[in-house]
Amino acid sequence: MNGFTIVVIIVLVAFVGMALMMVFSSKVRSKMLGRQMEISKSLLEDNKENFKDLARVGAQMQKEILEENEDVLKEVSSKSADIESVGIEKKAAAFKRGFTGEGEKETKFCKHCGAKIEVDSIFCKECGKKQ
Ligand SMILES: [Zn+2]
Repeated sequence: MNGFTIVVIIVLVAFVGMALMMVFSSKVRSKMLGRQMEISKSLLEDNKENFKDLARVGAQMQKEILEENEDVLKEVSSKSADIESVGIEKKAAAFKRGFTGEGEKETKFCKHCGAKIEVDSIFCKECGKKQ
């Protein structure tokens, strides 16, 4: 056996080995995956009741917390609703201002008819009388 033959044999063995590994590894992988799935499935199956209990306990706890803090929660939600409505009013006013320019200037009331007019207006826009 000369050196060349040894090299050829080594290369062949390595090639066959790699081919075998590729074939087997996919099989092994799918087998392992299947096994893993089976295990998690059986775990779920075995602990179905426990999971149900856990969910039930969680729901119960949530319910109790909600019931115990009903007043606080109501207060918080009504307060946040108030804050929200104030914010909406402000936004609506700003929106209106953006369109009409209303409210940008300071206002006063007409001496004669009481209409809301701009501070610097000389004549009332409602009754036309001099301020
Ligand atoms: Zn007026």
